[in-house]
Amino acid sequence: MIKIGKESDNQYIVDDPHVSRHHAQLEKQEDGVWLLIDLNSTNGTYVNDQQVARKRVNTKDEIRFGEHVCSLSDILNQHNDYSEEFALLKGIYDRYIESKVKIQSSNQFKTRLLQSIPFALLGVVGVTLSFLEKGSPLLMVISFIVMVCAPTIGIFLGAKQSAKVPRQLQHIANQFKIDYVCPKCGTFLGEIPWESLRNRKQCPVSSCKAKWINE
Ligand SMILES: [Zn+2]
Repeated sequence: MIKIGKESDNQYIVDDPHVSRHHAQLEKQEDGVWLLIDLNSTNGTYVNDQQVARKRVNTKDEIRFGEHVCSLSDILNQHNDYSEEFALLKGIYDRYIESKVKIQSSNQFKTRLLQSIPFALLGVVGVTLSFLEKGSPLLMVISFIVMVCAPTIGIFLGAKQSAKVPRQLQHIANQFKIDYVCPKCGTFLGEIPWESLRNRKQCPVSSCKAKWINE
């Protein structure tokens, strides 16, 4: 719970003449959403310009106490509480792993497909020859060339396809390094599963110590 008001015993202190000593409070609900409760303040509590007594709020809402405008993030951040922002990192981690697996498996499929195309061609030539029965010398030559070249072409096409993968992986890894960072200090958190980070509860950078989990 975070108490909000002018008095120094609040967690979020607002120095504003229109704010009551104990103006409002935030309570975290069981589903993780914050409930904003007005404590019969003189000038009222507003969410998106509507006066409220109790209202569930998220980071996109504009919150106002008297004349003081702020967001849920402002309140939580002053409390060094980055649990809202930290929770969003789970999606970033999951999506990163998902696309990594997707790139690798689709590449495996494409590589095998490309490797087998020349052999399929070989089959086509063989079938054509058997239809013609006698077999013209020209077709025999073509068939011979295809037979000799098929493995080489297959290997070449397959190698070309797998060469694309490091670039694609590098691309998503670069983006991941930008997105998977401590919401306060911006330090890259490494390829560590979100669940493991959650167990640490706060940022290990000594100058940061942002709380990742609100308890
Ligand atoms: Zn940090």
